Amino acid sequence: MSGTNCIFCKIAAGQAPASIVYESQEVLAFKDIAPAAPVHILLIPRKHIVNVASATPEDAAVLGQLILVAGQVARDLGLTEGYRLVTNTDKHGGQSVYHLHFHLLGGRYMSWPPG
Ligand code: AMP
Repeated sequence: MSGTNCIFCKIAAGQAPASIVYESQEVLAFKDIAPAAPVHILLIPRKHIVNVASATPEDAAVLGQLILVAGQVARDLGLTEGYRLVTNTDKHGGQSVYHLHFHLLGGRYMSWPPG
């Protein structure tokens, strides 16, 4: 099921452009349109899950896949010094696109705590 007017559902369906770096039946990884680091990849489930707060036990497998694919993409892109994997959730998390996604950020040192 896809979200109404969801840009990430459109990307997953091939109805909106994206620079895709990995895809499978369940998940997709593509370059963020406004990169916050030298490497900034978004990893999404093809299924429209709003965010972690609304994920259910039936989403467990795809959530696991997203993390494993993030590790594989990071290796493929040569992030040997490390990286950050984050998922912003709802208002206080700073979520702006309400289709669950992980940000894979790398290629520079990431400070902590985030803003
Ligand atoms: P968040 O604020 O955590 O919801 O992250 C949403 C991310 O999606 C931001 O980093 C945006 O730059 C990125 N974004 C929004 N629209 C697109 C798009 N059409 N293609 C690629 N990245 C996008």
